[in-house]
Amino acid sequence: MNTVSVIGAGTMGAGIAQVSALAGYSVLLYDVADEVLAQSLDGIRTSIEKGVARGKTEPTVAEAAKQAIQTTTSLETAAQADLIIEAAPEKLALKREIFATLDAAAPAHAIFGSNTSSLSINALAGAVNRADRFLGVHFFNPAHIMKLVELIRGDFTSDETVTAVQEYIAKLGKTAVLCKDTPAFIVNRVARPFYGEAFRLLGENAADPATIDKLMRSIGFRMGPFELIDLIGCDVNLSVTQSVYDAYFQEPKYRPHPIQKRMVESGRLGRKTGHGFYEYET
Ligand code: NAD
Repeated sequence: MNTVSVIGAGTMGAGIAQVSALAGYSVLLYDVADEVLAQSLDGIRTSIEKGVARGKTEPTVAEAAKQAIQTTTSLETAAQADLIIEAAPEKLALKREIFATLDAAAPAHAIFGSNTSSLSINALAGAVNRADRFLGVHFFNPAHIMKLVELIRGDFTSDETVTAVQEYIAKLGKTAVLCKDTPAFIVNRVARPFYGEAFRLLGENAADPATIDKLMRSIGFRMGPFELIDLIGCDVNLSVTQSVYDAYFQEPKYRPHPIQKRMVESGRLGRKTGHGFYEYET
């Protein structure tokens, strides 16, 4: 495996492209518009340089990584890779359409991975004629820092595919955990009440976001729920909540909260838009 394509240059796609390039892969980064790609590439370069300044990355490795990332707005071009990881918006129909297009253009040996947080891997694999070479490759945010990656097997994922992607994850210096295709997999499933109860507390005016976050940090959490949602993106958080709720046939404990919807409707998506539950410098 030499070439890795990343589909979607947003929060997660940028991080996946960065860690892949730093590990020595040739990276093709796809998005729908040149402006999005330029902004994403800028962020990746800044992040790589921060790694050098902190003594975590050798300058020569950083320079090679920056050179290793090419961008494209053509899905057919992005399909020319050994491993293709999709990090597009959390919408089943959109992701299926992307995979169907990639499937028609990619070499037969190419492995497809989705960074979905909550959608069914089998439902995504159903869009391609290579379900044996399809799996979930779920990085966590920020992808260049978080060590854990969930690898999610679909019903038809082959052992060879799992082994090849485990080797890729090991080369990134990360830890892969293999799990089954169950709604929200392991981490996001466990995290649902963390967000859900925080929204209920806020909705009942029990406390404001800063107080809830401070309390959660005081008992050992690295971040409080609202800081984390701002990092994740309120839109992504709502999509994941909605898809887990639907996957469990409208199970009340997973029900999205109206505050989540209001944040998205008002464009307060978190860090990426400069404001969410908190304000950020852009
Ligand atoms: P994001 O909104 O930051 O980025 C999505 C990117 O997809 C944008 O750059 C957008 O321009 C691009 N895009 C839009 N339409 C597209 C299309 N038709 N084809 C390809 N790209 C398109 O979202 P994100 O947070 O990076 O999330 C991407 C995926 O990763 C989602 O499936 C999400 O559930 C998952 N994920 C997110 C997080 C997180 O904390 N944000 C963590 C783990 C997994």
